[in-house]
This record gives sequence, C-alpha cells and structure tokens, in this order.
Amino acid sequence: MSATPTSAPAQQPTGGIQASPHTVRVRFAPSPTGFQHIGGYRTALFDWLLARHARGTFLLRIEDTDIARTVPGAVEAIIEGFQWLGLDWDEGPLIGGPFGPYFQTQRRDIYRAMSNQLITGGHAYQCFCTADRLKQVRDEQQARGEPPRYDRLCRRINSEERARRVADGEPYVVRFAVPTEGATLVDDALRGAIRFENANLDDAVLLKSNAYPTYHLANVVDDHLMRITHVIRAEEWIPSAPLHVLTYAALDWAPPVFVHVPDVLGPDGRKLSKRHGAVPLLEYRDRGYLPEAVLNYMALLGWSFDDKADVLSRDQLIASFSLERVGTAGARYDPGRLLWFNGVYIRQLSPADLADRTLPFLERPQDQGGLPDSVSRPLDRAYAERVVGLERERMKTLADAAEMTEFFFTEALEYDPALLIAKGMDRERTLDGLRRADKLLRASRRWVAGNIEPKLRELVAELGLKPVQLFTSLRVAVTGRTVSPPLFDTMEVLGRQRSLNRLARALVLLAEK
Ligand code: GLU
Repeated sequence: MSATPTSAPAQQPTGGIQASPHTVRVRFAPSPTGFQHIGGYRTALFDWLLARHARGTFLLRIEDTDIARTVPGAVEAIIEGFQWLGLDWDEGPLIGGPFGPYFQTQRRDIYRAMSNQLITGGHAYQCFCTADRLKQVRDEQQARGEPPRYDRLCRRINSEERARRVADGEPYVVRFAVPTEGATLVDDALRGAIRFENANLDDAVLLKSNAYPTYHLANVVDDHLMRITHVIRAEEWIPSAPLHVLTYAALDWAPPVFVHVPDVLGPDGRKLSKRHGAVPLLEYRDRGYLPEAVLNYMALLGWSFDDKADVLSRDQLIASFSLERVGTAGARYDPGRLLWFNGVYIRQLSPADLADRTLPFLERPQDQGGLPDSVSRPLDRAYAERVVGLERERMKTLADAAEMTEFFFTEALEYDPALLIAKGMDRERTLDGLRRADKLLRASRRWVAGNIEPKLRELVAELGLKPVQLFTSLRVAVTGRTVSPPLFDTMEVLGRQRSLNRLARALVLLAEK
C-alpha cells in the first residue's frame, strides 16, 4: 500500500487536563449489550461531573452497532438509570441535539464515507480473508507461541486485483493499515504519555462485511464529529487507544484528551462484573437505595475530594470535581459502605420526603417485601408519614420500612407473652405494673408523648421499679417487639385507642399465662 506510512514518528502528546470552561464536551457512550452496573455509571458520573463543573456539555451516545449482541430493553434501562440518578444529558436520546443522530446504527453512511476516505488516503484496505482462513492463521500463530494478529495478506494485494475483487462483489471487511515501524504515544490525562510500538499493533477491522462499523471506527468518527474534548472511559480501552490515535492522525483530526479511569473492583478484588458481585443499577432503586446516596458513593470510587470529606451533595460534587483527583488504582466496591451512605441520606430527608419515597415500598404486595396484604391500601398518608418519621434513625434502606413498621398498621399482634416479663420481673409484678399503667393511661386526657411520659415515669418510681422493667413490658404490649422506636412517641403515633386495646390484650395474655 503505497501511501501507508511505514515509519510514523511518535505522535506528540496533545491536550491536558485543563480545558477552558464552556468548551468541555464529554460523552458517555454505552453499548446496549447488557445492563450497566455501578462500574459503568461511575464512569458516566465522572463525565457528567466534569461537564457540569466546567459548565460544558454532556451527551449520551448509544453505541449499538454490534447488533448481534444488542440486548432488547438495554437502552431503555440505561436511560432509566440516568433518570433515576438525576444525571441529565444535554444531547442524546429523547432530546436529540445539533450533532445527532445519537444512535450509531443511524449513522452508518457517515462511517462508510470515512472508511472510504481512509482507503483513498492509503490508511485502510479491503480484506477478503474468510473466517476459516483467519482461524487457520490464528491457530498457526498460537502453535508458534505468537500473539494472534492478522497476517496482512490482503494488505499486499495490488490495486488492480483489489479493484476487481471489490467489483466482483466479493465480501470484505475494511482494516486499518497500521504503520509497521515507529511508535505511537497515547497521552492519557491521568497516566501521562503511554508508548506503543507500532510493530505490536494489529490491522484492526474498521468496517465489518455487513457494512456496520466496529467500535474503533464509529467511536473515533463520532468523538470527532460531536466535538468531544475529553474521552473518559474504562481503562480496558487503553490497548485500543493507539489505534484510535493513529486513526485521528490518518483523518487529519486532533485527538481529544484521553482519560482512562481506573476499574471498579468487586469485593473479591477482581474487576466488578456480573460474575464478580455487580448488580444492575436499577436494582439499588428496587432495594430501597436513594439515588443521592448511590451518586455520592459512586463519585468516591476512584475520585476523592480530600482525605476527610465523604458525604458530599450533588452540588458539592459538581463544585469540587476535578480530574486531578481521579486516581489510577482500582477502586473497590464496598456494599457495606454504600449502605452506610444510604442511612446517612435517609436521615437527611424531611419526614414528608421520606414518606413520599417510602410509601411505594410499604404498599408493595407482601410477597415483594411490602406490608402484610391484610393491611388495606392505599395507606393513610398522614399516618404513614408520622410512622416512618419515627423509624428514620434506624432505616438503612427504604425497603426496611415494611418490616420495621408493620405493627403500626396491623390489627392483632402476634408475640410470645413471655416477652412481656422484663428481666428481674415476674408475672405478678408485671401484671400489677401494666394494670396500674393501664388505669393511669385511660384517665389521661391528652394522648401525646410529652404528657404520657412523665406520668409513666412517676408510676415507675412509685412502684420502685427500674424504668426498663416497666417500659419493656409496655413496649412489648403495644408493639409486640422488644425493639422499637422511642416508646412514648410510638404510643402517641399509634393513638389512644389502639394503644389501650393492645395493653388490654397484653393483660389478658398475662393473666392466662
Ligand atoms: N461503547 C463503549 C463501551 O461501552 C464505549 C467506550 C468509550 O467510552 O469509548 O465500553
């Protein structure tokens, strides 16, 4: 191939971490070949944070050209995940934009034109090798202990033969004609210049025989045409980067800044993947995680603000995000820490907000983790708000609420009457204490914690008991449990009638015991 550079000089590093505000354009470019987990969304979050920090543009591009591996519903799930996290995009699916379409399958004419341009310029060539031949080449290379690579048979075909075979309609792919000498430098914003010997690179396929582009061609073409300034992507793409740098050069385009972010590792220290502890992002929603907690936690997977601050709101993250503080070491996903963040964010919610978010979890069918089916839906909004307000301190996920608050909603309580008798107490003294409490509560006018509590404390003193001895019995009587939110608040929210009915029932159970 005459025009193929055979001794390309090392490419000069370009770009840098700083791009002036208003010019930053970043994209997240998922392939809908599966469901994105926290690792993928973490990369998207870095894109989004960089764009929002720099008042730039964030776009979403769907790299759906691998049609054989496209999973139905995956695009919708990706979009739903973004919407759940509150990561808004300025250009992309649903909204379009000036550089669309944003689905690569709708841009095939563009890739074909660019592929032709590369062929004309001598940077790419048609390869007619069959799958069988390629396999044979690979097997032989393997037998010789060589890395598998295309042997460039078709690169050596003369132009007459090439033209004839194309005209005859012989199927072909288009391959990049990698320079055989020299080196290519990939300038990575986090890692500096990474040098690749061209002799070790493969003549990668750019256009498949079905005329769909491969990732390598479509990605470079789109990043250029969509004026992407920073390519933030997983470190697994580093080995492909020299091919991309060479493609930019062959098309006479300036490459963007490359930022290969560290992998998110599973609890086992291996790259997080479906087989290594990853769950689809939307499962966190269904398990009662708050998007703001997940967002905050994800931002810390590979980035840090300083050594201290970790609870950072969306606005604080935007204000403080910078690529300088993105590391290169893999970040380990720790489910326990995510759960901790979730509890922190739950405690920050107003009771009304918490109730809005928790109601759907309470109202789920029982077999999906909701309240018993005997509790009629919809729940009383005002009552539910008071109930979840009491549990806020203990809730780690919204899904915890059903089990925790069940006794507020059910009529009869099932419990072992023996639980009514506190440590150091016996049946008689318990019966006596509860009877006195019952009498006193029936006589009390205002059913609020601030009124109930001092009366019961006086009674404890009068009976010569420790508070825990009477209050344990009362707690079990009104909640059926030994652990609950603060007793007097619980009684207030349960209401006079329900509390007194439960107390009466406890007295019967004890008397029968
Ligand atoms: N479609 C590629 C992926 O899903 C995008 C990689 C990139 O950001 O360049 O991994």
